[in-house]
Amino acid sequence: LDLRNEDLKELRELGQGNGGSVKLVEHIPTGKIMAKKIVLIDAKPAVRKQILRELQIMHDCNSKYIISFWGAYLAEPNICICMEAMDNGSFDGIYKKTGAIDIDIVGKVALAVLEGLTYLYDKHRIIHRDIKPSNILCNSAGEIKICDFGVSGELINSIADTFVGTSTYMSPERIQGAQYTVKSDVWSLGVSLIELALGRFPFSESLSDDSDLSDLEGTLSPARPGSMNSLGLPPPRKRNSAAAKKDKRKSKGVSLQGGGMTMSILELLQHIVNEPAPRLTPEGRFPEQAEAFVDSCSLKDPDQRKSPKELLNDEWIIYSRTSDVDLQAWTSTF
Ligand code: ADP
Ligand code: MG
Repeated sequence: LDLRNEDLKELRELGQGNGGSVKLVEHIPTGKIMAKKIVLIDAKPAVRKQILRELQIMHDCNSKYIISFWGAYLAEPNICICMEAMDNGSFDGIYKKTGAIDIDIVGKVALAVLEGLTYLYDKHRIIHRDIKPSNILCNSAGEIKICDFGVSGELINSIADTFVGTSTYMSPERIQGAQYTVKSDVWSLGVSLIELALGRFPFSESLSDDSDLSDLEGTLSPARPGSMNSLGLPPPRKRNSAAAKKDKRKSKGVSLQGGGMTMSILELLQHIVNEPAPRLTPEGRFPEQAEAFVDSCSLKDPDQRKSPKELLNDEWIIYSRTSDVDLQAWTSTF
């Protein structure tokens, strides 16, 4: 399929991210409906072409747990990535509409993400690098798929150079500047699952009593991959919630180093590194197998954390594979 901007008719906006926006479009010559992601990148022509070449690997990523890729092209100064459109959108939007998601459905999400990650790594040696609810999509056929994986090293570098570096789903070892591995994705999966099951971002209580984390979610800059340690994180300190709240109010919107990074994000990253890992709480609300699975994703030492492939043999995942929760029926309820 030879994709050109002129052939794509915009139907509506699907969402906005840090790096650009995603539109629902119709490919006029074929009538095919797609999602078009527009990424603004500040890179030289040679690098842009390299990115485009690297993105072609996505043509070979064929799995029912991975968003299909229809093609990418340059529309200066943007790169447009056209992919399968998922009509129920992403899981962040879903839980914000429905509230906390039933744990058996969360189990299906866990299974799909682990299958997707295992496929990407086993078949293509690709590490996702950005697992979070907004990159886990769902359609009305009841399928769950992941998108936005780190297929292009040059794209990752260019985006990091311009506006994005770090997200609040990042594992402790990544925050401290260690190499990315498939196990870092497992940490991010754990945080994401807790968020879906609780209906809120899991670290929201640890910082302050008010759970408005809108200024914390997502990403911040400036940081190149692997350079978080160069931010000079201040040493950990114990704090009570009232002090945190006061601090947060004071620092809200204050930006450090011109990067749009607020104090509270720094505190959150520090918290992820220094405090106990997030859990499915309160104890007893969720099945023990689900608690145990999340605990194994949230092991702070990456050497102890299992890989996605190993976790496919976890008891809760084996249960989730056979559980008869009807995803298609569920998607028709919102
Ligand atoms: P982020 O993932 O950080 O939210 P993105 O730019 O990747 O930012 O995506 C913005 C939003 O667009 C997502 O939150 C998601 O809801 C929506 N979206 C992305 N890709 C698709 C797709 N293929 N089908 C449907 N919705 C999508
Ligand atoms: Mg995304």
